[in-house]
Order: sequence, then C-alpha cells, then structure tokens
Amino acid sequence: MILTAEAPAARKETMAFIDQQHQLLIDGQWQPAASGKTFEVKNPANEQTLAQVAEGDRADIDLAVKAARRAFESGPWPQMTPSQRGQLIWKLADMLEQNVEEFAEIESLDNGKPKVVAAAADIPLAVDLFRYMAGWTTKLEGNTLPISVPYLPDAEFHSFTLREPVGVVGQIIPWNFPLLMAAWKLGPALATGCTVVLKVAEETPLSALRLGHLIQEAGFPPGVVNIVTGFGETAGAALAAHPDVDKVAFTGSTEVGKLIVKAAGESNLKKVTLELGGKSPNIVLPDADLSAAIPGAANAIFFNHGQCCCAGSRLFVHQSQFDEVVEGVAEQARQINLGPGMDPQCGMGPMVSQIQQERVCGYMDAGLNAGAQAVVGGKRADRDGYFVEPTILVNTQPEMSVIQEEIFGPVVAAVPFDDPEQIVAEANDSIYGLAAAVWTRDISRGHKIAKRLRAGNVWVNCYNIFDAALPFGGYKQSGWGREMGHAALDLYTETKAVTVQL
Ligand code: NAP
Ligand code: MG
Repeated sequence: MILTAEAPAARKETMAFIDQQHQLLIDGQWQPAASGKTFEVKNPANEQTLAQVAEGDRADIDLAVKAARRAFESGPWPQMTPSQRGQLIWKLADMLEQNVEEFAEIESLDNGKPKVVAAAADIPLAVDLFRYMAGWTTKLEGNTLPISVPYLPDAEFHSFTLREPVGVVGQIIPWNFPLLMAAWKLGPALATGCTVVLKVAEETPLSALRLGHLIQEAGFPPGVVNIVTGFGETAGAALAAHPDVDKVAFTGSTEVGKLIVKAAGESNLKKVTLELGGKSPNIVLPDADLSAAIPGAANAIFFNHGQCCCAGSRLFVHQSQFDEVVEGVAEQARQINLGPGMDPQCGMGPMVSQIQQERVCGYMDAGLNAGAQAVVGGKRADRDGYFVEPTILVNTQPEMSVIQEEIFGPVVAAVPFDDPEQIVAEANDSIYGLAAAVWTRDISRGHKIAKRLRAGNVWVNCYNIFDAALPFGGYKQSGWGREMGHAALDLYTETKAVTVQL
C-alpha cells in the first residue's frame, strides 16, 4: 500500500541539528571546506533539500590526514592506556544510546529508511559494536614464541610479538546504513589506537556528523577522528591515494573498490580492506518450513529496501513449492506500506536518491524487456519521492543482468530448481560471495550446504542476522578482509616480532 498521509515531523532538537550549516571535523575543530564550497543533501521521501554540507576535497583531506598523523604520533591518544581508550569508546556508545530517537530521525530523513527500523536496528547495532570493540582494547595480546635458530644452536633468545595500531586510517563509507557503517569502521580503528579520516557518503552525511559532535563531547583528543564530507571522485579519491595514510577501509561498490586498490598501489601500498557488493543466493529446500522461509525470503530482499550488500536477491526454490513460495513472498510484498520513513506505518521508504531509483528501475526494465515477468511490483511507485515497488521477478535466464549484477533495490529474482544436489553450484555461480542462506528442516544437510557455499556469511533457517561478534565480509569480488568480530582487529594492527638475545 502507498501511504499518502503527511508523515509526522521530526522533533525540534533533531531539526535544530539538521538545519545547521554543516562543517568538516578536522583536528577537533568544525571548519568550512578550504574551497568554501557546500553541497545540498536531499530528503529522498519528498525530494526537498534537507541540509547544506561542506564540500571537502583534496585540500581538506590533506589537512585531516595531517591532523590524524599528529594525533597518532604525539599528544594524549598514544599515551592513553588501553583501558582509558576502552572507557572512551564505551562512553561514546552510552551517548549514542541516549540519543537513539534523534539518530533514528536523522537516518530516516537523510536515507529514507523507516525511523522505527533505524531505532530498532541501525542505532542499537552501532551502540553494541562500540561496546564490543571497547572490550577488546585491553585484550590485544601478542604471543611468546620458542625459537630454534639453526645457525646459532647455542644461543638463547626470548621472542614475542606485539600488536600495534596500523596508523592513520582512511575510511570511506556508503549510504545504506550511514551510522552503522561509520560504527563498523570507527570501532576497530579506535579500539586498536589508530587515528581516522572518515569520508562519508555524499547522500547521507548527517548521522556521522552528529556522531562527530558526540565524539568531541565524549572527550576523544583532537585529530583522532576527522570527518570529511564531500564527493567520492574528489575527497574519496584523495584519501585513497594519500601517501601518508597507512590503511584504507572501504565499503561500497565493487567498481569503486577496484579504484581504491589501484590508488593504494600507485601511491604508498597502503593496506586495503574492502566490503563490496553481493548477489546473495537464498535457497529453499523441499523440506523447508515455509512458515519461516517465506517471511525470511521477503526480509532477505526487502529489508532496508534491498539496499543491502548481503540482500538475498537470488531466491532458489525447489519446483515442488515454487508457486507457493513465490505467492507467499508476493503477498508479503503487497503488505508492505510504502511511504516516508518518518511515518510510523512505513514498512519501506524511498530509494536513497534519484540515481539509485533510476538504477533499480533500469535493471527491472532490462529484465522485463528480456522476458522476465514481475509477479508483483516491477516499476517505480506512483508518488513523490524516489520510491520503487517491492518486486519479484520470475522467468529469468542465468545470463540476464538481474541475475548477474547487484541491483541494490527491492528486487528479487525467484528461480526454480529440480536437483538439490546441483543448486549449490548454481548458487555459487557469481562473481560475488558475500552472503548466502539455506532453509531446511534437515540440520545436517543445512550444515553440509553451509560448508559448500562460497560466501563470507551463511545463514541457515534465518537471514540478516548480525552481531558485533560475527565477522562480516566477502569471498571473491565481495571484498578483502572482514568487518566486526575480532577478525576486524587483526586488520587494524601490525604484528611486530621482537627477539632479545639472552
Ligand atoms: P560507491 O560509489 O561505491 O560509493 C561508496 C563510497 O565510495 C561513497 O562514500 C562514495 O562517495 C565513495 N567513492 C565513490 N567514488 C570514489 C572514488 N573514485 N574514490 C574513492 N571513493 C569513492 O557506491 P554508490 O555510487 O553510492 O552506489 C552504487 C552502487 O554501489 C549501488 O547501486 C550498489 O550496487 C553498490 N553499493 C554497495 C554497497 C555495499 O554496502 N556493498 C553500498 C553502497 C552501494 P560519494 O558518496 O561521494 O559517491
Ligand atoms: Mg557514488
């Protein structure tokens, strides 16, 4: 259903923040872009201007990197004990938790997602991530290593490893979970004692800027976290190519991920971690409990309007139940209320931008023109804002772009299969390997298939389960390295082997 009533306004405090002239956070100071330029941020639910934000570029990135370098090398940050660092991160989590409503409103207005979802998922997950990482500050241990040097058989040594922060980290994040992506990136960097220059997505800069204010209030020393708003081609590219950045951590499209790798290689061979796209298979076996699999399949693709790198966008269903499952997911799609995220009845907001709406509609048109059929949806929604109808496509062919490429919208291709033994190979037939799921009552079969799926995250009888302790990331062209979990901490530390001759 399309919601037409006027959505409730955000609270006064939220609007007071949004209405500010937003600046860059560099070296603990809010400042305009060196060029003086600003750009406009839109509310995707009504296409109106929401805020004006500083347009940082190369010069601002350079200032921010210098500030991050100073903060890394001298001053209070490197002097802090791990426990003190942990307390600061925990304090930031508490402050975020005290402001859930405000952050949920900012996310909803800026990104388009339902406020209730942001308040129930995005913000609490960010709080939890900071707390999880706060706990790690005091547990980053090395090893002691018994060594046997063949050419010095009589000598005695004491060898051990230290884990040290990798240094100044450039972080580039997308617009689909603006605050949560900032938390996934900042958490491990701060826990390990790195300093950061964060480039947020041009579409959704506001929640990270609000977080910047909390970072200052919490008492992080100047220069530890610098936040630059601006465009990918200028500010983002300058960060990825900067010779004094030790690591770049990127989340976004595989296409831009490749540019990041190139920039790192051509500058200083900075370390690179990437969390990229996906085309995740969701497999419903003949013995699945459909009362769970049907809403699970709908959630897999429609959560966050399909703007999830791990969205279950290829739904493989055994032909014995294909019609029942497709009709069940279609019914779930028909039940979704499309409207502004601020409306408490909203189940799905707009795409983040007109570009994204056009991209998603372009994929649907390409599929439909090539012979696919829409069981439900298939076009933009008939109202203002960048809305797209939740869509299920059938009669697709393996070579169609709707099967091969990441759409990043609420569009799932449902594909029937005969042979459960063959389906894993088809599920793995993708350049991506971010997530996958299987629905079955046979738990041993579920485990076996989980082992064979080439994906960084596999869910059995569930979908979209995230936790700060669970590493998240991709096989194949879905990325390098992992976010969250202790796996992320390894990627923000260098290991130093120290040997003392006794
Ligand atoms: P994108 O271009 O990959 O943007 C991700 C981030 O990278 C943004 O902060 C962006 O800045 C920045 N960026 C862009 N070009 C850059 C460059 N040359 N050097 C350094 N940084 C750069 O993604 P998008 O254009 O927003 O979305 C395009 C498609 O990417 C989507 O349709 C979807 O398929 C995929 N995507 C995937 C994820 C994911 O989580 N895996 C997230 C978002 C999008 P700007 O915001 O200024 O462009
Ligand atoms: Mg972009």
